[in-house]
Amino acid sequence: MTILNGITLALSKGRIFEETLPLLAAAGITPTDNPETSRKLIIGTNRPDVRLVIVRATDTPTYVQYGAADMGIAGKDVLLEHGGAGLYQPLDLNIAKCRLCVAAPKDFDYAAAVKRGARIRVATKYVKAAREHFAAKGVHVDLIKLYGSMELAPLVGLADAIVDLVSTGGTLKANNLVEVEDIMPISSRLVVNQASLKLKRELIQPVLEAFAGAVKK
Ligand code: ATP
Ligand code: MG
Repeated sequence: MTILNGITLALSKGRIFEETLPLLAAAGITPTDNPETSRKLIIGTNRPDVRLVIVRATDTPTYVQYGAADMGIAGKDVLLEHGGAGLYQPLDLNIAKCRLCVAAPKDFDYAAAVKRGARIRVATKYVKAAREHFAAKGVHVDLIKLYGSMELAPLVGLADAIVDLVSTGGTLKANNLVEVEDIMPISSRLVVNQASLKLKRELIQPVLEAFAGAVKK
């Protein structure tokens, strides 16, 4: 139930919310509550025709796909797993930047295993992106779907390697893992419901332009 004469933007708490604040400011939008401290899931703004809904990062494309939110901000990782159905993706916001990569324990010779044509067990939250990456490289893998802390999997013998997001590499290092293959750079995108874009263009277009003008290269 979107507001007919207004727009709803889906955001997740944490880095996406924090890094979106300057973009919202550029569009003249200021949230009236802080989702880190408030328990509210629907947050108003200084503009009566703009509200925010606070969702889990992986749920953002779903809310926008079904029109429960007109727009949202989601990582490319999340969008790849979702598939992007029903979503218009007009803008790379260049926020929440990191990389998707393959990592393995220091003592696992990944390159040699690949060369031998061995079947490698890979734990990941990003099954779709991982499947496409290994298929394109002709690497044989058994993928194990996890929902959190992939770094643990190779340490306890659940997997030989992981596919995960890396920014500083600190978490990998702390768990004796090294990056063995880069898959792709990741940043967050603005996603817009395709019907909303047509029906609410006069509200959405100025926000889109303000965001585009505020994107850091
Ligand atoms: P949760 O932490 O609640 O399990 P999540 O990991 O999906 O959910 P965030 O950690 O806020 O949520 O990540 C949101 C988005 O930010 C991810 O989808 C990804 O695009 C990006 N991201 C994830 N980890 C990093 C990182 N270490 N540095 C920069 N961006 C990141
Ligand atoms: Mg996280």
